[in-house]
Amino acid sequence: MASSSEPLHRLELGGVCLEYRLVRSARRTLGIRVDGKGVRVNVPLRARQGEIEAVLRQQGDWLLARLAEWKNRSPAAALAEGKSIPWLGQPLLLRRAEDSTRSRLKREEGVLELRIPEGHDLASCFVRFAKTHARALFLERLAHYAARLGVATPPLVLSSAKSRWGSCNSRGEIRLCWRLIHFPPGLVDYVVAHELAHLREMNHSPRFWAEVEALYPDWRRARAEIRRLAQTLPEIAGSN
Ligand SMILES: [Zn+2]
Repeated sequence: MASSSEPLHRLELGGVCLEYRLVRSARRTLGIRVDGKGVRVNVPLRARQGEIEAVLRQQGDWLLARLAEWKNRSPAAALAEGKSIPWLGQPLLLRRAEDSTRSRLKREEGVLELRIPEGHDLASCFVRFAKTHARALFLERLAHYAARLGVATPPLVLSSAKSRWGSCNSRGEIRLCWRLIHFPPGLVDYVVAHELAHLREMNHSPRFWAEVEALYPDWRRARAEIRRLAQTLPEIAGSN
C-alpha cells in the first residue's frame, strides 16, 4: 500500500497536473496503479526520472481517464436515493420504501425500495439486503455446480473482501464476496465454478483449469470480464 510518506511528484500531462507517488523497490519493471488514493508508480531502484516520465506521458490518456473514473465514483455519488447501482448486471434505482414495512426488489421496474429504519443509513440497509440475496443466490449456484462436479455442496461463508471474489480453504469451505451480486449471473457462476474446482485441485495448475473448463467452458471470457467490471463497481462506505 502506498503511504503518505512516499514523495509526491508532479507531471504536466496535456494541460493537467498529474500527481503521483513514486515507490522504488527491487523490481525489474515499471508498474502503474490508479485507485481511490491516486496514482502510484512502482519502479526499479535505479530507474531514472526521465524514463519514468516518458512512460507516464506515453500512458497519459489512460491515466487521466482512470483518474476521472475514480473521481466520478465517490461513495456519496454511488449510493444514495435516486442513484442506481448494478444488481446482477442491471442497474437498479435506489428508493426509500414509503410504507417502510420491508424492502422490496422490483426487478421488472428496475427499482429497489429499501426499508430504512430510524437511525440507519441507506448504505448499511443496502448492504444487509444485498448480503441476504447474495447468500441465497450463492447457495443455489453452489448446489447446482457441486452436483455437476459430483461433490456435496460445501459450506459457504459470505465475505466482504474487496480484493478477492472467492476462495476455498483446505477444509473445503468456500468464501464468496457478497459484492458479486453486482455482476451478471454468468460471472457469479464462473466464480462459483472456479472455487468448487479447487475442491479437486488446490492450485491453479492446468489440471485445475481443466476442471473449471468442464464446469464453465467460457471461463476465459468471464475472468477477463470480472477484471474489467471490478474497476467500475461503486465503493460502498461502511460495507464490511
Ligand atoms: Zn483460484
